[in-house]
Amino acid sequence: MSECSYNLVKMKGEIELVITGMDCADCALTLQKSVARLAGVQACSVNFGSGRMRVNGSVAVAVVNRTVTALGYGVDAETTPGQHGDRQVLWLRLLRSPRNVLTLVGMVFLGLAFAAQAADSNLVTTLFSLGALAGLYFPTRAGWAALRNRRGLDMNVLMTIAALGAFAIGEYAEAATVIVLFSLGEALEGFTLERARESVRSLTALASDEATVVKPCMDCESHRGRAMPDGSGNYQAGPCPWCDAHLLTVAVESLALGAVILVSPGERIPMDGVVRSGQSAINQAPITGESMPVEKNAGAQVFAGTVNGEGALEIEVTHLERDNTLARMIHLVEEAQEQKSPAQRFVDRFARVYTPGVVSVAVAVAALPPLLLGEPFLDSPSGHGWLYRALTMLVIACPCALVIATPVTVISAISAAARRGVLIKGGAFLEILGRVRVVAFDKTGTLTYGRPQLVAMECTNGDCTTRPDCADCNEMLVVAAAVERSSSHPLARAVVQAAEQRGLRQLRASDVRTLPGRGVQGKVNGSAVLVGSPELFHDSEFLSPAFCEQVETAERRGQTVMLVGENRVVRGYLVVSDPPRGNSRAALAALSDGNAVRTVMLTGDNAAVAAAVAESVGVQQVRAGMLPEDKMVTVQALAAEHGAVAMVGDGVNDTPALAAADVGIAMGSAGTAQALETADVALMGDDLAALPVVMRLGRRALRIMRFNIWFALILKGVFLVAAVTGAASLWMAVFADMGASLFVTLNGMRLLREKLLR
Ligand code: ADP
Ligand code: MG
Repeated sequence: MSECSYNLVKMKGEIELVITGMDCADCALTLQKSVARLAGVQACSVNFGSGRMRVNGSVAVAVVNRTVTALGYGVDAETTPGQHGDRQVLWLRLLRSPRNVLTLVGMVFLGLAFAAQAADSNLVTTLFSLGALAGLYFPTRAGWAALRNRRGLDMNVLMTIAALGAFAIGEYAEAATVIVLFSLGEALEGFTLERARESVRSLTALASDEATVVKPCMDCESHRGRAMPDGSGNYQAGPCPWCDAHLLTVAVESLALGAVILVSPGERIPMDGVVRSGQSAINQAPITGESMPVEKNAGAQVFAGTVNGEGALEIEVTHLERDNTLARMIHLVEEAQEQKSPAQRFVDRFARVYTPGVVSVAVAVAALPPLLLGEPFLDSPSGHGWLYRALTMLVIACPCALVIATPVTVISAISAAARRGVLIKGGAFLEILGRVRVVAFDKTGTLTYGRPQLVAMECTNGDCTTRPDCADCNEMLVVAAAVERSSSHPLARAVVQAAEQRGLRQLRASDVRTLPGRGVQGKVNGSAVLVGSPELFHDSEFLSPAFCEQVETAERRGQTVMLVGENRVVRGYLVVSDPPRGNSRAALAALSDGNAVRTVMLTGDNAAVAAAVAESVGVQQVRAGMLPEDKMVTVQALAAEHGAVAMVGDGVNDTPALAAADVGIAMGSAGTAQALETADVALMGDDLAALPVVMRLGRRALRIMRFNIWFALILKGVFLVAAVTGAASLWMAVFADMGASLFVTLNGMRLLREKLLR
């Protein structure tokens, strides 16, 4: 994008730019402060994770752009979604950053200089100087900006001093190499980080730009004046009853809520919406990571970015382009990548002490031995002086490898998870996932499908069992459905659905109150109705031993029994079956084998049902009969006993437990906006298979972060000692420093690679 396409007129409000070539959280801060100082700017925030800069105030885009380029970073004008994601273009975009271009120029001079040295040419010094100049330009400017913004001795300052110092003592080759390799290292880190960011941004590329809208023929000229089919006079204007609807191709941002769009077989769904007509299996992998297509028909929710299967679908748009699930997901990922993990905060704190510490030791090393012991300060033909050692230490003082060690890992891991339909809300939760010892599961809707069906019912009327279609049973179902209609519990839906399927009459209930984890109560036709778990009724005297026997038999099969009471008399029971999810067992096995974590099921259902379900999914421990607050207390107790606890739930009757856990993992978040926003980790799909995968990812991320930090620390320590004792040359320090930064960056980036997962 050329300069001229930027608006020179002052913009009021918010400007958003994508910055390229940012390779450290430090540069993000320097950039942020530099732009915030511009006249007219009220606020500026730079998101290091996403590479986005937001500027508020009244300032010309060109001015902001100039400031950013002056510090050596690139600006990408294409901030509209759907414009990213091309690998080839990434290279070109990086070359748009002047810092990278000068690095390249510096490398060319360096190469020429070494060639000249080999050929014994007298151009050597000139070429090294030119290389050094090219390499110095941006680090010096950025270092100056950092000093001016009182950000202390950042790495640009250190490297600039080291290069200038080496130059001053006549070590031209070292001077040029130090600074050019430093710039190259930064550029490569920038490139790898850019790739990690790209991998999330490329999700936006999934969104289509255009959609086919179904528009009724309006104000039809050719049919004006004709008698309306419904006899309401002559047609004048409005929707034409005779013409077919028009199909129009429009840009998605122009679609309003309620618009109806047509999605052909095989096409990508352009907007979030609800299916109005048609039936199709939809591949939701881009959003949820689920590999199997999901069958959808009228009334089902569909997501932008997913791919339609065999059937054509008419979809009513429910979200504007900017707040569809895909957009929200990407936004949350970008926010998550910005959250500092505890490891990162530790490193930042450490670097704040480490760098000034090493610099002061370096000053002492340069000054004291020559002053007190008469040692040589400058280089002499017999060897290096103490200034040389001090310069070497400045290079080692650079915290580059340390500060890049954790963010690159966090960004890569969060990107990798997002591409598999799992949202991790920041480095902190990633670290906790890596440390989790116990995973607690809610039963209904989590280990089971949460779509229970009424499979049997029986009333206390004596001859009920002998009649297949018992009128009293149906009456009981009518009354139960009346109160359950106000509850959103999966069991409630099963009851209402069964009543509807049987075509029974509908009664209205009043004063309905849900008893979380137990049942519901309300008034129907003046009598008090109570529907819920058998425990709610255990003081009822009307339960015969035979009745209790039947209830218990059903429960031992893993079916949930709800009793229906009217005016304190038990009318009968409803048996509901909610089969375990097909992959629960495999997911739990993978968790306890591969990840060595303890699995616990928490359920409000009674012990018999719980035991049957636990048996079929293979969960290690069961806690039954729990009210929502018991689940919370249990989570806390598990944490106290074993260490970090993850709680997996669907958000029904388990919200307190999700909040109490060290990390709350919500299932099926694509469908519920609230779960997506509030969970610490959101599984977009209804698929437990993603769980062992993210746990493994967390573990790897934690391992890599720890390794990276220790690696950088030990390397620095060794070289520090070597530098003071004169065993390390400037060369070694430069290669060790750049090598370490690159190594930890690439090590963190491994998490992006597909192979590691599933
Ligand atoms: P889970 O822990 O398995 O997700 P809940 O805590 O949601 O289960 O519910 C526990 C028990 O409470 C259910 O098995 C059921 O007996 C009773 N219950 C809860 N809500 C309702 C309701 N709306 N209608 C009838 N029974 C209910
Ligand atoms: Mg539940």
